Amino acid sequence: MSDTSIHDGDAGPGPERVDVLVVGMGFAGMYVLYCARQRGLTARAFEAGSDVGGTWFWNRYPGCRVDVDSVQYSYHFSGELAKEWRWTEKFAAQSELLRYCNYVAGRFDLRRDAKFNTRVTSAVFDDETNLWTLRTDKGDVASAPYCIMATGSLSTPYRPPYPGIEDFRGDWYHTGTWPHREVSFAGKRVGIIGTGSTGIQAIPVIAREAKHLTVFQRTPQYTSPARNRPMAPGEQEAFNARHDDWRDEAMQTFNAITDYPPPTRHHHEDTPEERRAYLEGRWEEGGMPQAMLETYKNVAVDEAANKVVADFVRDKIREIVEDPEVAERLCPPEDLPIGSKRPPIDTDYYETFNRDNVTLVDIKSVPVESITADGIKTGDVEYELDAIVFATGFDAMTGSLLAIDIRTGTGASLKDAWSDGPDTYLGLMVAGLPNLFMINGPGSPSVKANMIMAIEHHTDWIMDLLDHLREHGLDRIEAQKQAQDEWVEHAREVAEATLMPVADSWYVGANVPGKTRVYMPYFGGFDRYVKICEEVVADGYRGFR
Ligand code: NAP
Repeated sequence: MSDTSIHDGDAGPGPERVDVLVVGMGFAGMYVLYCARQRGLTARAFEAGSDVGGTWFWNRYPGCRVDVDSVQYSYHFSGELAKEWRWTEKFAAQSELLRYCNYVAGRFDLRRDAKFNTRVTSAVFDDETNLWTLRTDKGDVASAPYCIMATGSLSTPYRPPYPGIEDFRGDWYHTGTWPHREVSFAGKRVGIIGTGSTGIQAIPVIAREAKHLTVFQRTPQYTSPARNRPMAPGEQEAFNARHDDWRDEAMQTFNAITDYPPPTRHHHEDTPEERRAYLEGRWEEGGMPQAMLETYKNVAVDEAANKVVADFVRDKIREIVEDPEVAERLCPPEDLPIGSKRPPIDTDYYETFNRDNVTLVDIKSVPVESITADGIKTGDVEYELDAIVFATGFDAMTGSLLAIDIRTGTGASLKDAWSDGPDTYLGLMVAGLPNLFMINGPGSPSVKANMIMAIEHHTDWIMDLLDHLREHGLDRIEAQKQAQDEWVEHAREVAEATLMPVADSWYVGANVPGKTRVYMPYFGGFDRYVKICEEVVADGYRGFR
């Protein structure tokens, strides 16, 4: 225990006592641990996986890779680290991202304070001692005045409860808990359910290996080419040379991502021919998911602008996919605005449906009825399969937090606080739960930004707050209910001014039956959010008690 720590550790037997408890050892938990140490705080982290990496530890499905440029989807707290690491591809594959996480954990000796293979089951706050106590499935008990939830936004896999899965004689997998061993589909008849970002990455790769791939699609997606490529000679060095400036620049953008200039024109300023030529150029360029949304002004808010880009993608599908019936089945419906579901990017997704060994099944009109011993049954048809892949997503943003019994000794609980949706103040704290912080919680930009920049911002903000409390002899902080209500209302207004909440997406919890429908991320922009957080501090931590 360092002499600058907030609380002295307990000597002797009993629960472990530290300054900060951390749940999760993905990108967020690792940075929290690093920062806690830098500030002279002791910390204990728990992680359900057997090692670091979070998302990149669990999601090992074929084709898994990041879709923000690797040089930007990296830690930025250390210029040294940036110089030491060399990405091999524009959009790094899962294995490389996991190597990076391992490198960072080793470089900063982060595993020392983490316990792996250990799932936190409860977090209880004692109002008298001001201590959070975590309990785990391995019998650990650890206490600290502060608890930071670095549990990830997409880390509780969701699998539809189709009857009969226990009868299936083949192998089945969920992309979010993929085995840590080689999975071979060679010579097999594979079925995949789900065509979100994950399915769209996995389908072309599985199709190349499997004897036959049947794609079960509920909602067709708009996707555009990633145009992934090896890093060019000197590209990493050029980025590193501007690293500090890049960071400042990224902080002033909507999604903490640079090098995709915002649109300068409205769609109605161009003739149909000019639009077509311009969008064609952007399609050829490819790039990050928002690339097609950033073509014309107001694509996210204006129906007419949105339709121009959506129609262009539908036309591309009809151009690429040879069988007109299959092409129509792949076209997203007119009432689904492009971008309202999280836009994926792909490598040969639509082209994959030209393969002889790929079949597309529409499970919107005829839903999956059951899993049988031999495959998947929809209506009167049974599809015989040797393996099933569930690419059916996650109980996003709230699932991992609500899986932990989070409560205070006086009866407040996260479950009750969120019974009508995940209300937070700035996505950082929940009224009634003192000294408990979330990284990338609902109500923060999180999944609408470069997650690593958002992680660093949240963690730095929380660490500055802990310094502030220590400097002022305070040991307890809580979000005020009124400030929280105002933030929730602001976040709601911002989202509802756009087309984003229209779709039945995981952003609004629609993929999980019974989940309250609320647009969960803050869609006001990372730049605006950072400014608001700065103003809150300048106003003496406005809205916190
Ligand atoms: P997702 O976007 O929620 O997609 C799940 C898919 O499963 C959808 O096609 C969905 O259909 C389908 N599905 C879900 N429940 C179903 C049911 N009961 N019956 C039939 N179909 C069902 O999940 P995801 O693809 O795993 O992606 C989640 C998020 O992870 C992404 O949006 C992204 O933020 C992140 N991600 C990122 C990357 C990356 O490159 N960085 C890669 C993968 C994922 P409906 O659309 O009809 O609901």
